[in-house]
Amino acid sequence: TTPSEYVGYHELKANGVLKDIVIDNELVDTVPADSRAQVIFDKTPFYAEMGGQVADKGVIKNQAGEVVAEVEDVQHAPNGQNMHTIHALKEMTRENTYSLEVDVAFHNKVKKNHTATHLLDQALRDVLGSHTHQAGSLVEPTYLRFDFTNLGSVTAEDLKKIEDIVNAKIWENIQVETVVTDKESAEKMGAIALFGDKYGDTVRVVKVGDYSMEFCGGTHVANTNEIGLFKIISESGVGAGVRRIEAVTSEEAFEFLEERNQLLRQSADELKIVQIKEVPRKIEQLQEQVKLLEQQKQALEDKFASQQAGDIFKNVKEINGKTLIAGQVNVSGMSQLRQLADQWKEKQLSDVLVLATATADGKVNLITAISSDAVKEGYKAGDLIKAIAPKVGGGGGGRPDLAQAGGKKPEGIQEALKAAEDWLNK
Ligand SMILES: [Zn+2]
Repeated sequence: TTPSEYVGYHELKANGVLKDIVIDNELVDTVPADSRAQVIFDKTPFYAEMGGQVADKGVIKNQAGEVVAEVEDVQHAPNGQNMHTIHALKEMTRENTYSLEVDVAFHNKVKKNHTATHLLDQALRDVLGSHTHQAGSLVEPTYLRFDFTNLGSVTAEDLKKIEDIVNAKIWENIQVETVVTDKESAEKMGAIALFGDKYGDTVRVVKVGDYSMEFCGGTHVANTNEIGLFKIISESGVGAGVRRIEAVTSEEAFEFLEERNQLLRQSADELKIVQIKEVPRKIEQLQEQVKLLEQQKQALEDKFASQQAGDIFKNVKEINGKTLIAGQVNVSGMSQLRQLADQWKEKQLSDVLVLATATADGKVNLITAISSDAVKEGYKAGDLIKAIAPKVGGGGGGRPDLAQAGGKKPEGIQEALKAAEDWLNK
């Protein structure tokens, strides 16, 4: 086994001797130009993916300072060495020394998000209780994801408390210290072991002042103030008793807030107000206006419907010994037809009633009603609606005294009204 030392805790650029090259599962001596390979150096500053923290990216240069390869991924080989997946631009040869250079901007974003997970882990326990423990995490340069045990969702109020605590710790400028020690001493110190992680004889304990202490092999900021800002963007469930928080830090947190700010700005513009803080009051005002207008519209519709009904209710035909009122009205829909049928019933205007209306969306509403006397004689509103609804391309049903139907052929309304007369003639 080729030994390989990880030096990325202290330096992000280091010289390494190329020890092993694997192409298509074969150990070889050179990486040809423009090809992919897996390579191991005697030492490397590249972090290999572990504990949810993504691998570093970066470049490899030769001694002349030319970029010879891009590092696309780094994973732990079975024997623990950091195995780099590279895209070689120029030929590379075993036992040559190369300059390994981590993408510093990428690395710094990751370490900010990673350190924020330590603060979040403790803040969750502070707010939700000591039963809460980590159930997994993902630390990317642009965001972090943190899974933890908790029954039920976290309230908006608690999320705010958690976020406030993390930000307070960031702004307290707390030094982050790493202690490498044996496992027993670390446990005596009270360090929290991350769920599912395995530890060797020596362990790294990462302390954020007195606030948090965890076993952790990841990379961290030296002072919490480097994180800048922390913002939770979502909280959701990912399984029985497991919740997930997604959050952003630093520039991404500012961008997130700025996007929200722009949305508010747009809303204020749409509402034609200058002050953003006036937005909620303006929306409340508009909602009250809408409510008032709806009430006024309803009152007018009712009045209009009654006027129309007045005319139709005068037109009583006598067919086969029964009185019939049948007509088309211009109302908003079924609920108004029912109101008219109530009026008809109260005033006992005829034995049989048929009302139809064409709705604004091109459909038809039909209602039929039979007086209680006629019901006793065997006339049924449900039978009548079944007889006439097909004329408007619909169907329906109901009780013996009241039935309703929908249809989609407004041009069939007159035919349907005529069919009611035929039904009485049978
Ligand atoms: Zn860590």
